[in-house]
Amino acid sequence: MAWRSSASTNAGLIENLWRNKLITDPRVKEAFLKVDRAHYAPTSPYDDSPKPIGHRATISAPHMHALAVENLLPFILPTTSRSAPRVLDIGSGSGYLTHVLAELVGSEGGLVVGLEHIPELRDLGARNMAKSEEGRRFLETGRARFRLGDGRRGWTEPGEGEGDDGWDAIHVGASAVEVHPELLAQLRSPGRMFIPVDDEDGHDEGQHIWCVDKDEAGKVTRRKLFGVRYVPLTDAPVG
Ligand code: SAH
Repeated sequence: MAWRSSASTNAGLIENLWRNKLITDPRVKEAFLKVDRAHYAPTSPYDDSPKPIGHRATISAPHMHALAVENLLPFILPTTSRSAPRVLDIGSGSGYLTHVLAELVGSEGGLVVGLEHIPELRDLGARNMAKSEEGRRFLETGRARFRLGDGRRGWTEPGEGEGDDGWDAIHVGASAVEVHPELLAQLRSPGRMFIPVDDEDGHDEGQHIWCVDKDEAGKVTRRKLFGVRYVPLTDAPVG
C-alpha cells in the first residue's frame, strides 16, 4: 500500500488517498487538505510512507493516519449531543495527526491533546504546528495542546465545565502490550479507542489495530481490524 498514494504535492497525496478509498468522507478529505505534511515530515513529505523524525520515532504513513481518522470520525466530529469533542492523541510525535484531528473537532470548545513522553518530541509537535497560521491559532486558543506524560496512563486535561473530563476518542500512535485499563477508564460512554496491540499468540512480532468501543451504558466491545507495524509504547529514555 505504501507506494500507491504517493504524490509530488500535498493535494496530490490526499487526492490519491481519496481515490484509493483510504479517505472516504469529504470532511476528512477537507481536514487533510488543510494540513501540509511538509510541515511535519522531514523528507519526501508527500510519499505514502513513514519517515524517521528522531528519538526512534517515525511520522506514520499517510494511509495509516487516514485509516485512523476515518475509524474515529463519529467520535471526533461535533454533534448536537456532543458539541465539544475531546480527543487524546497518544504518541503525537511529529504532531501531524494532532493537527488533522484539531481541524475536525470544531471551534465550540473542541479539544485535542497530543501526548508525548519525550520532551523534545512534545516540543517538535508544537513547533511543527506553529509553521502554519491556522496551526498557530489552534495553539493560541488551546484547541490543540501538546503535553508530556506516559501515554499508557492516559491524560487528564481539565475542561471548561463541570464534569468535563474523559475522552470521546483516543488514538494511540505506538503499539501497546495490552489495552491499558487506565486508557479504557478514561474513555467516555460512548467513546472509541484506536490502538495497535501486540499479538498474543504469534512468535513473530505481529500487531493489530483494535477498535475498542464503550457504549452509552459503559459496555465495552473490541474489534480486531488489520495487521500493522508501529514502534512500541515504552518507558521514556533516561537522561
Ligand atoms: N502519531 C505520530 C507517531 C509517532 S511514533 C506521528 O505520526 O508523527 C510513536 C510515538 O510514540 C513516538 O513519538 C514516541 O516517542 C511515542 N511514545 C512511545 N512510548 C510512549 C509513551 N509511553 N507515552 C507517550 N508517548 C510514547
